Amino acid sequence: MDTTRSYHSPDSYLITHAHSDHHGKSAMLSEKAICSEETSRALEILYGKKYVGRTFKLGETIDIAGVHVRTYPTHHTIGSTAFFWENEVGTRILVTGDVKDAKDLPKCDLLVTEANYGDFDDPNCHFNDDIGTFREAVKEHDDIALGAYAFGKAQRAVHLLRESGYSGKIGMDPASLALTEGLMENAGQLCGLDGDCGIRIAALTKLPSINASRKFVLTCMRGYGFPTISISDHMDVNGLIGMVDQCAPQAVIVYHPGGHRPVKLAAYINKMGVYARALEQINNCIEI
Ligand SMILES: [Zn+2]
Repeated sequence: MDTTRSYHSPDSYLITHAHSDHHGKSAMLSEKAICSEETSRALEILYGKKYVGRTFKLGETIDIAGVHVRTYPTHHTIGSTAFFWENEVGTRILVTGDVKDAKDLPKCDLLVTEANYGDFDDPNCHFNDDIGTFREAVKEHDDIALGAYAFGKAQRAVHLLRESGYSGKIGMDPASLALTEGLMENAGQLCGLDGDCGIRIAALTKLPSINASRKFVLTCMRGYGFPTISISDHMDVNGLIGMVDQCAPQAVIVYHPGGHRPVKLAAYINKMGVYARALEQINNCIEI
């Protein structure tokens, strides 16, 4: 669920993923909630409450109040979902949530999407994952600590470590460990931060207190006080623009996050010749 406004009671709350800024924390307590099996598990681990809604296997088509809703992975977190359906006049609507890779998303008429890195004029919105630097940094597999968000980035780090050939134990803080063990297949051997391991993955707040000779933060942002390696759970602005090209909508609504980036991305998409508005620019349902 990714709304920022209150509406009449809906038939369901579609939860795209378990990050708290997408409202699943409150929606998970409603029987009207709908999310992927992985997202429901992540919500329960993150917030320590029982998810009481419906679940689906990512990729399934689900029936919601008589509407066939297709589900697609957005590769932002394990289980993150985009929802697609046709309305009563045949308009194909795609709501993405946060997106790391749009490769699986279908063509649509109305795209409702995010703008986390949606400002084309901001150098911080242009980046690529620096897998080469990551592999070089972890090559020695010894006495390294990586700062990463517990849900999303930590699992991406484990995946990249295994992909780079590291098969030893990975130490993780309690939240990252619970989420990785609960959600990830083929994570390999994991243990707590005090376990016997050469590589540790910890929340950013815990990184300063970890005893390791080399520390890195996995992020595309700056100002963490440690060397950073550019690894993101999002697409940069070129990825967002590429997604619009690929999905070929007639109209785009940009709804997330707060701040100026949705307006900036909508303005850029308009310049591409596609009608676009940030959600905050829409005052009534007639306008679009
Ligand atoms: Zn997110």
